[in-house]
Amino acid sequence: MTERPRAWTGFVPWPHDAHGTVQLADVVHRYGRGGEDVTVVGPLDLSVTAGEFLVLVGPSGCGKSTLLHLIAGFERPTRGTARVSGDEPTPGAVAGAVFQTPRLFPWRTVGGNVDLALRYAGVDRAHRPERRARLLSRVGLEGAENRRTWEIPGGQQQRVALARALAAEHPLLLLDEPFAALDALTRERLQEDVRRVTAQTGRTTVFVTHSAEEAVFLGSRIVVLAKGPGTVALDLPIDLPRGDIDAEELRESREFADLRTRISHAVKTAAAG
Ligand code: ADP
Ligand code: MG
Repeated sequence: MTERPRAWTGFVPWPHDAHGTVQLADVVHRYGRGGEDVTVVGPLDLSVTAGEFLVLVGPSGCGKSTLLHLIAGFERPTRGTARVSGDEPTPGAVAGAVFQTPRLFPWRTVGGNVDLALRYAGVDRAHRPERRARLLSRVGLEGAENRRTWEIPGGQQQRVALARALAAEHPLLLLDEPFAALDALTRERLQEDVRRVTAQTGRTTVFVTHSAEEAVFLGSRIVVLAKGPGTVALDLPIDLPRGDIDAEELRESREFADLRTRISHAVKTAAAG
């Protein structure tokens, strides 16, 4: 195992080695006990390399959230192994996570929510204000420190959730349908920000959605999951331009439309199967 940096202070890309890699090998996951067992995932093999932006897309109930829970260490696979950066994942210690709802603490300000994450990440009090300011600026919320979380719109709340997920500086970021509850325009803006932030910070990312459009815009690779139990139906590298891009132009391009159609078909087939 390679040595992990104890404190990562700058927003420089993670070295592209074992940090943030994911390996699911022969994974089967069942819920329930005794005769009531339901297999919801597998058998499934899936590896994510460092720096990759993997989007998991598939019909509702195909096991996308369960897969993220297995990667985060919230659940242990019934069979097979889950590894993050080469090790069995310890819950809360391997990945930053963003969920469909922001799950912020309403009695804390925007800055207070980020501070708490920094505290849990072991950042000492003296360094928190600077780190907090940098994180908020990273997600487009500079100057919002003292706002109440319930005062700001849903899109901004998700930005706070993203800042919080970045606070611990895990090389892996897991996002479970984080924009599903947002309006279309806000959703597009946040997609652009997530694409930029993950590229700038070199995070390995696993992002769950049921939107083909979102998958194609974000992913450097898309895995379509089929239902009952969740298995890989399609595994497709996406070589649309990354880095500094004109998002509008990309979304309107022919390649984008073709990929969206292809993923959309694959999801429909996966849902029917
Ligand atoms: P998705 O995120 O793709 O919609 P989930 O991973 O949430 O799918 O769920 C996959 C299946 O597992 C669903 O049929 C769901 O009802 C079931 N399931 C999810 N969590 C649990 C649980 N804690 N106990 C029992 N069944 C569960
Ligand atoms: Mg889900």
